[in-house]
Amino acid sequence: MPKNWALGRGGARGGPGRYVPAVRSGITPREALDCVLAETPVLRSETVSLPEALGRVLAEPVDSTRVLPPADNSAMDGFAVRAADCAGATAEAPVVLPVAFEIPAGASTPPALPGGRAARILTGAPLPPGADAVVRQEDTQRRDGEVAVRVAPPPGEHVRRAGEDVEDGERVLEAGGRVGPAQLGMLASLGRGFVAVHQRPRVAILSGGDELVEPDGDVSGGRIVSSNSWALAAQCRELGAEPVYLGIARDTPQDIERRLRGGLGADLLVSSAGVSVGDRDFVRDVLEKLGCRLSFWGVNMKPGYPLAFGRIDPERGDAAGPLVFGLPGNPVSAMMTFEQFVRPALLKLAGASRLFRPRLRARLAEPLRKKPGRLHFVRVTLAREGERVVARSTGNQSSGVQKSMTRADGVLLFDAEATEWPAGHEAWVQVLDPDFLASDDAGF
Ligand code: AMP
Ligand code: MG
Repeated sequence: MPKNWALGRGGARGGPGRYVPAVRSGITPREALDCVLAETPVLRSETVSLPEALGRVLAEPVDSTRVLPPADNSAMDGFAVRAADCAGATAEAPVVLPVAFEIPAGASTPPALPGGRAARILTGAPLPPGADAVVRQEDTQRRDGEVAVRVAPPPGEHVRRAGEDVEDGERVLEAGGRVGPAQLGMLASLGRGFVAVHQRPRVAILSGGDELVEPDGDVSGGRIVSSNSWALAAQCRELGAEPVYLGIARDTPQDIERRLRGGLGADLLVSSAGVSVGDRDFVRDVLEKLGCRLSFWGVNMKPGYPLAFGRIDPERGDAAGPLVFGLPGNPVSAMMTFEQFVRPALLKLAGASRLFRPRLRARLAEPLRKKPGRLHFVRVTLAREGERVVARSTGNQSSGVQKSMTRADGVLLFDAEATEWPAGHEAWVQVLDPDFLASDDAGF
């Protein structure tokens, strides 16, 4: 018998004499999270085109090799002038200047503006040398070859200075930042058609159970749809990870192994159900057969106790096989353990610097009760009441009640050792859906 093998669950389910490797069990959610993040690497970078970069995390800082805007230019349609030439101009006593030439947007360097003249200029067009202000068209009156200026612009009025946005050599974006629409627009302005981002995590998803069918399947005889396949894949997609569906495995070691092998090339493997202690829960055995070193099984949380985590073939260092999560089968447990452990792992893989949901303090609308020992992740609705946020349980918190997730704005952390929190008690809530702050008005 190899060292560090200990009598495992064999006596309970596989008959006496069945030995399995010792695995940490009954750990706290914090210990589980620390373990997961310690095992999770950051994925390599790859160079992608701009449309591909949306939602990805920059693997390199971006320094500008351009000046933006490239030249002093007009912020308005109007007339470029020397401010000194218009001193004292008012509507009653306008200053009349001959119009020397016109400058459309996209013009190359215009000629210098002679003193005592104006130049017709359009928004975005380069300011002629010598001019230092633009008078809006609305503040002028045009006559044959002349313009009457009815305001006295201060120097710099309606002029966008070269480099006021970005200087040559300036660091514009930091590594670890997410590429959103604004970052994408900036990259385009800098002429960057390609950019280095972290690879998108690929997540193999396996569902398992003889009772499960696909959504169009026959649900007679008590069969149910494998909702986890959909919910977990969607949780991946929401983070920019790429789910690879391995289908529904029957409750046989052979089918589970065949399908799991299809996911060995992924960065992360998520299997739901079959990691418990039931007679037909073969996933854990198959994982171990495939070279998975389990770090833990069983986390003191509710929902989601029977959570397993490990890595396939850790000997191979960076080139090691996927991280493996054996999630519980109940839909709420599966989604919640994904939320608490797989989500931060995926964000770390993707290179993100922010791994966790926003949190806030909320007051309980109603009392909460439980037994001591496990941290409860209570699904709650959130509502703003004056300066405060009030949390209310979504109702039946059983791990099979999917409505408790569909209605949740957040997850309230009901401390492991707490047994009763009265109404009005203040607690931490992870915000799943910041839309609870949505307004019925634009606010302007
Ligand atoms: P198990 O871990 O196999 O004992 O499953 C626990 C519970 O979760 C059972 O009620 C299963 O029917 C249910 N379940 C397992 N897998 C899924 C799935 N993919 N989608 C929905 N429910 C599931
Ligand atoms: Mg099952």
